[in-house]
Amino acid sequence: MASRLFKLSRTFASRPGLFRRAYSETASERLNSLNVFTEEEQMLRETVQKFAQTTIAPLARKMDEEEKMDPAVIKGLFEQGLMGIEVDSELGGAGMSFTSAIIAVEELAKVDASMSILCDVHNTLVNTVFRHHANDQIKEKYLTRLATDTVGSFGLTEAASGSDAFALQTRAEKKGDYYVINGGKLWISNSGEAEIFLVFANVDPSKGYKGITCFAVDKEMGVKIAKKEKKLGIRSSSTCALSFDDMKVPAANVVREVGKGYKIAIETLNEGRIGIAAQMLGIAQGAFDCTLPYLYERKQFGQYIGEFQGMQHQYAQVATEIEAARLLTYNAARLKESGKSFVKEAAMAKLYASQVAERATSKCVEWMGGVGFTREYPVEKFYRDCKIGAIYEGTSNIQLTTIAKMLSAKYKNNA
Ligand SMILES: Cc1cc2nc3c(=O)[nH]c(=O)nc-3n(C[C@H](O)[C@H](O)[C@H](O)COP(=O)(O)OP(=O)(O)OC[C@H]3O[C@@H](n4cnc5c(N)ncnc54)[C@H](O)[C@@H]3O)c2cc1C
Repeated sequence: MASRLFKLSRTFASRPGLFRRAYSETASERLNSLNVFTEEEQMLRETVQKFAQTTIAPLARKMDEEEKMDPAVIKGLFEQGLMGIEVDSELGGAGMSFTSAIIAVEELAKVDASMSILCDVHNTLVNTVFRHHANDQIKEKYLTRLATDTVGSFGLTEAASGSDAFALQTRAEKKGDYYVINGGKLWISNSGEAEIFLVFANVDPSKGYKGITCFAVDKEMGVKIAKKEKKLGIRSSSTCALSFDDMKVPAANVVREVGKGYKIAIETLNEGRIGIAAQMLGIAQGAFDCTLPYLYERKQFGQYIGEFQGMQHQYAQVATEIEAARLLTYNAARLKESGKSFVKEAAMAKLYASQVAERATSKCVEWMGGVGFTREYPVEKFYRDCKIGAIYEGTSNIQLTTIAKMLSAKYKNNA
């Protein structure tokens, strides 16, 4: 029996006009390149580029040296609508697509990876948990602030639970209308600036990970910022340890329901990884864009260093890898946006984009020679800033484990 595809091709072969019409309709309507964006997404990219160049770029080095973000820049992110990209407009957000959030993270990372992670964690983790899992009262109370003027943090990791996140030790005990939370968190991004925290705590350790519950917490309920880490890269991004000492949180602040914290964390991090891929893509492209002009300014042996074939082959290779990382990232974002399965693709995008960012930034430092190694130029900062991509929101090994799990599920079942 002839296959459907075969019959279809015979029909088109006998009626070439039909093929041309069908192909051109399909091509223009659906078979777009992953580098094609809606008008709204394109406008957002231009807005972020302008903001990043005029407001962030002049301060990026200073913020890195001082290991502190300028509050005016954070305020600017809110004013530009970049802290509530997907939040509904009724709640003060921009009501835009997931891909828009990814574009914003990428564009910010081209200029400063610290501002990029602030925007990324806030949008793709914190806002996402509230948007997808909170009831209307919690949404109204917290999302309106998160979209307009208040920074949020996502508190999952602890000293003894990193990759094994659900081995967390923080406890929440029900006392009447409240939960009393005791414990602490480690490595929490944005926590130096945040006023709203998502805190994952176990309400019933006898149930293991099924006791993990997510709470919406105001800083004033008793979040203590215990220690700010001094880091290799993304130095102006605050990464702090938190402690909770008999912190009283209203039972009404449980997000989704008791015992669903692990699901919330898994689902959110799966999608958040696309944000980290975008950050790594932005870092790689940012370093490349800063470096290439230098190759056509600097002469050695009587010619521009960018004209040596040994250099040309290297930057052609790096440009190709950046393009591949870009396509993986946008593909994962579009899959997520269209409600299709994206977990493997998101893990691949994060894994690969972080590898490309390391290779690209390392090459950029080399291509600039001695000056690339100094703080006079931004490439050494890109080189330091990208290393975190292989660590947070699941290390590279954890991404490989996820990819392998999905592959084995597919091929084992077909064996
Ligand atoms: C700058 C920064 C910001 C962060 N921001 C946040 C945040 O906002 N919120 C939050 O909750 N967390 C945050 N984290 C925590 C981050 O997600 C964890 O550091 C990360 O998940 C790794 O955990 P770990 O550091 O305990 O490393 P470990 O889990 O101890 O891993 C150490 C090494 O062992 C390997 N390894 C572990 N288990 C396996 C395995 N099963 N198979 C193979 N290899 C394995 C890892 O790949 C890694 O190479 C942040 C961390 C940093 C450094």
